[in-house]
Amino acid sequence: MCGIVGYIGSDEASKILLSGLRELEYRGYDSAGIAVSEATGIQCFRAVGKLDNLQQKLGDYQSHGNVTAIGHTRWATHGKPTEQNAHPHGLVHSQVVHNGIIENYMQLRSTVETQFQSQTDTEVIVHIFEQQLAESGDANIAFRATLDRLHGAFAILLISEKVPGKIFFARKGSPLQMGFSDHGCFFASSDAALVGFCEKAVYLEDGQWGWAT
Ligand code: GLU
Repeated sequence: MCGIVGYIGSDEASKILLSGLRELEYRGYDSAGIAVSEATGIQCFRAVGKLDNLQQKLGDYQSHGNVTAIGHTRWATHGKPTEQNAHPHGLVHSQVVHNGIIENYMQLRSTVETQFQSQTDTEVIVHIFEQQLAESGDANIAFRATLDRLHGAFAILLISEKVPGKIFFARKGSPLQMGFSDHGCFFASSDAALVGFCEKAVYLEDGQWGWAT
């Protein structure tokens, strides 16, 4: 197992995500990463090994203004524990984090013409999403169409520069919950990462999906 966190709001996001990921360390991981979408675009940071390595990669980085942000600790199932395989995975304008296994990823990979940067089963999610978005022009439809094609277990968070202010989420066979406070909206794999940040938590049902703004 491994962990997922997410945040929508105007507080400094990297601190919130790192703090959440530290609370999920007990679940085990081999690498970690975060992506923050702010007015200037999406910033992405990834590192192999402990969260301290990710913290070092972040350096002086701080988010500014309203953001959507996603973070992940990975326990490799497909592809070695390398920086290139660490989540988030992105393509042109979107980034995804995923816990679980996409069983039909090889078949899905053969349906897109884009080049893959990692060995993971996860990366195909963002390729399919961007393909679907290009076809439909509607991110909500594109996300739903992407989920329809995935077989396996997943907790997913996805952000895109095309739809600033929005985090797409889905849960099937892997844990994911939401939390709310005056400071914004939060996602996490377990309560541990939400304690101290949220006054209210919502446990997503298996099979639930949607988007938060
Ligand atoms: N199957 C994905 C990978 O190998 C996600 C693993 C996880 O749940 O951390 O990258």
